[in-house]
Amino acid sequence: MDTNKLNNIWNNCLALIEEECTPLAFNTWIKSLAPISYKNGVLLLSTDNEVNRNFIVKRYSSLIKQSFKEVTGELPEMEVIIKTQAEEEKKVKNTQNKYEKYTFDNFVVGGSNRMAHAVCAAVAEEPGMVPMYNPLFLYGGVGLGKTHLIHAIKNYINENSPEIKIALVTSENFTNELVAAIRENKPAEFREKYRKMDVLLIDDIQFIAGKKSIEEEFFNTFNVLHEANKQIVITSDRPPEEIKTLEERLISRFKWGLQCDIQPPDFDTKLAILKNKAREINLEVDDQIFYLICESVNSNVRELEGALNRIAAYKSLVNREITLELAEEALKSYGPREGAAVTPVSIIDYCARFFNITVDELKSDNRKKDISSARQITMFVIREITGLSFPKIGALFGKDHSTAMYAIKSIEEKISTDPLFKVTVSDIIKDIKTEQP
Ligand code: ADP
Ligand code: MG
Repeated sequence: MDTNKLNNIWNNCLALIEEECTPLAFNTWIKSLAPISYKNGVLLLSTDNEVNRNFIVKRYSSLIKQSFKEVTGELPEMEVIIKTQAEEEKKVKNTQNKYEKYTFDNFVVGGSNRMAHAVCAAVAEEPGMVPMYNPLFLYGGVGLGKTHLIHAIKNYINENSPEIKIALVTSENFTNELVAAIRENKPAEFREKYRKMDVLLIDDIQFIAGKKSIEEEFFNTFNVLHEANKQIVITSDRPPEEIKTLEERLISRFKWGLQCDIQPPDFDTKLAILKNKAREINLEVDDQIFYLICESVNSNVRELEGALNRIAAYKSLVNREITLELAEEALKSYGPREGAAVTPVSIIDYCARFFNITVDELKSDNRKKDISSARQITMFVIREITGLSFPKIGALFGKDHSTAMYAIKSIEEKISTDPLFKVTVSDIIKDIKTEQP
């Protein structure tokens, strides 16, 4: 039963109860109650504390149940819980719901995550069947979709092969559970629980690093499952060898299977993610605004979503169409961004120095081969590093968007056919990113 309907019923109940008890009782006890749910014939209510609960259950349950029956025609069982407990339940429910939404269907695939997506899908399709993918070690920066993908694996398997037993935990929860099990003298049960799984999914493994006893336990669980060809998927914010204080033997286990990284999304992927998300929250805005968000938010998908939510909130607040100006207003706090030291202008400066030509030449219409090639590379590098739109890149050089687009596409082509050229360009990008002007 949805919350609105339940609240409605409860208000009707209150009216009936009020007539049957003293104002003092009504104000003290009955008003403290809030309806939580009605399912399987059980009406779940919450109140503030133990004293209230005991008193209500003892003195008022039959009155409450009767009034519920009068309103709905059904005589319920009644349970009263205390608010903090109620809030916990709601929280658990909310987080569960959130993760249920993480599926392969709503994961936007682009160059930066294509491989990760494909491997996760393969693992979800046939867990444990491909030794090369076991374990699958997925790593990448914050907010790039690791948690989304690992939950997508779980949701997919649950949906398509409900008989497969899956455990999905963060390494923090794994740790807490183990510590609790040891405290309660039940380590065997803990072990049993994880070792009978068909699929073990561990999110954010980096948090167990340095906790020797936890690493030991995990190592043993890993071995038992892996030996039985059970699928293991691990996520981390960095590759195994970069997790400081992680035991060597675990690092080497993680390297048995496949390591796959997720990179920050490029401009087009960011755009697709945003449009997808906008559809989900029924937000209609002009394309220009999507471009603005893509340019304001560097690379993190979570921030991208945050920015969109912010615009949605702004829209309902000011209650009118979002113009570019309003959107800029809403996004003010996003700029200047972290790492903003690297600007298109500083990239142009760097490239001019690198190619040993002047900035003016770089921006000119000079079609001499070496100059126009330097110009194209510079445009490409700006796009790579800042994700700036084609019109804006063009404008930096006094050109239109099609010139920028053509330049960037031709560099992309050259990169895909000429390894030496590829290395040169990626060196330039690396240098610019590390050089602090
Ligand atoms: P991580 O675990 O890598 O820090 P998350 O999986 O929590 O990142 O992703 C952050 C948010 O961005 C989530 O709401 C997730 O759904 C969303 N997200 C990330 N990548 C994508 C994508 N490619 N398509 C759609 N949503 C994405
Ligand atoms: Mg995560």
